[in-house]
Amino acid sequence: MPLAHEILIVGGGHAGAQAAISLRQNGFAGTITIVNRENALPYERPPLSKEYLAKERSFERMQIRPAEYWAEKEIEIETGCEVVALDRRAKTAKLSDGRELSYGKLVWACGGNPRMLACEGADLRGIHSIRTRTDIDAIEAELGEAPKRVGIVGGGYIGLEAAASLSKLGHDVVLLEALPRVLARVAGEQISQFYAQEHIEHGVDLRLDCGVHSFAGAAGRVTHICLANDEKVACEMVIVGIGIVPEIGALVDAGADHSNGVKVDRFCRTSLPDIYAIGDCAEHSNPFADDAVVRLESVQNAHDMAATVARHICGVEEPYNALPWFWSNQYDLKLQTAGLSIGHDEAVLRGSLSDRKFSVVYLKNGVVIAIDCVNNAKDFVQGRRVIEARVVASGQDLADASRPLKDFLP
Ligand code: FAD
Repeated sequence: MPLAHEILIVGGGHAGAQAAISLRQNGFAGTITIVNRENALPYERPPLSKEYLAKERSFERMQIRPAEYWAEKEIEIETGCEVVALDRRAKTAKLSDGRELSYGKLVWACGGNPRMLACEGADLRGIHSIRTRTDIDAIEAELGEAPKRVGIVGGGYIGLEAAASLSKLGHDVVLLEALPRVLARVAGEQISQFYAQEHIEHGVDLRLDCGVHSFAGAAGRVTHICLANDEKVACEMVIVGIGIVPEIGALVDAGADHSNGVKVDRFCRTSLPDIYAIGDCAEHSNPFADDAVVRLESVQNAHDMAATVARHICGVEEPYNALPWFWSNQYDLKLQTAGLSIGHDEAVLRGSLSDRKFSVVYLKNGVVIAIDCVNNAKDFVQGRRVIEARVVASGQDLADASRPLKDFLP
């Protein structure tokens, strides 16, 4: 007879932990169990590529809640085991250790696994990804104290943050990006150019338009990244930061609708009865992207989806409607973004790149849809309100950085 759980949360990252926290905040008094593959209580992932890699923050300071919290709130956490199969009719989840748990409602919050290059040499030792604490601990143990030459594949946020952290520690970093600019999938050209220049000035050997063909090694350990143009880049370690593959296997096997993630509705319900999905693994229609289907990878999205599900379970039908936002810290630069710039037809610079404090406002058909702010918290705070209000403004007016963005509010 499977053990009964009113709420079974699969995955103990940002989304899973927040779902449990929000359920209790909403007064849910039933049993809550989190099953987590990682052998750790829920912790914050963003510092992994930033302060934790740069040895500026301890793991203890990354806990989402202290250990006593979970006990006090009667939230049971099973670490070091994973859900491998779901039976949607019997409403049971099968664990990797053979146990079966039955659930009233299940919240799938399994994030994703790092996408790795499927090429020759990809299984050599010394090739890493950055998703968990264990990944960083392994990188740190291999790096040791003496400066090393590290090759980073991928110029997205994680690759750039790792480049900044490792070069701060004195390592020699070469960063390879397949596209003509860094952050190409997430930011406009001005932001890409600015960050590329910053990394070059901090000594990163940045190579754009640079496809990886394979890895070469000696005695089972990586020694070179082999490029598509036949060049070989020597390195003692490689970090691959080319995105994630959503972890949705058991849901898909159970028949859930999916494409680039498991599909959820405005209340984060999957197509399977009594099963929700939240966080990095879930794709939804976003009101801030003209209801386009997106799969967001951010703490904001994980938290707000979790809060939506908790409310829904507690009988409050309030759809997921939160403004997307994100941040990235590199060197002394704090990038804060709000909205989704997908499909913008105008990008307006406020301030100057040389001041290292500026913003880029994105418009679509004259409507402000997103903002990227570098060392500019004021524009970020006011810009969020402008996006939420779907303000119509001219690029010329917005470009006047002496005019606060709140002036554009109705
Ligand atoms: P996760 O946090 O990945 O949690 C999923 C958990 O589920 C994991 O612990 C996993 O082990 C577990 N799991 C997987 N499969 C199973 C299974 N079958 N059974 C049980 N457990 C399972 N976002 C920002 O907004 N700002 C940032 O600056 C930022 N920086 C980041 C830096 C790094 C290095 C990384 C990796 C991410 C960063 N993010 C950032 C993204 C943010 O951390 C994610 O969007 C967020 O963690 C998503 O939460 P989640 O709960 O969906 O997934």
